[in-house]
Amino acid sequence: MNLFYYIHYSMKKEKQITKYRQMGSRNKKTGKLNYYTITSVDHKKFECECLGFQYRTYKDCKHITRLKYLLCIDR
Ligand SMILES: [Zn+2]
Repeated sequence: MNLFYYIHYSMKKEKQITKYRQMGSRNKKTGKLNYYTITSVDHKKFECECLGFQYRTYKDCKHITRLKYLLCIDR
């Protein structure tokens, strides 16, 4: 019984991590487009690799906002 409970618990804890790539702004010096990888955990927690998000982790950056819009996630 204890074992079953443990397995069930660990399965519930297992997170579904999805990675998305979002197009960022164009680099004015090189003229190349920046791409940012956004990591999603269960579609609840989002983390972007851009500098804006690194400085303000409590706030969604524009890439996360756009991704949520594309995924039809409200908030
Ligand atoms: Zn970002």
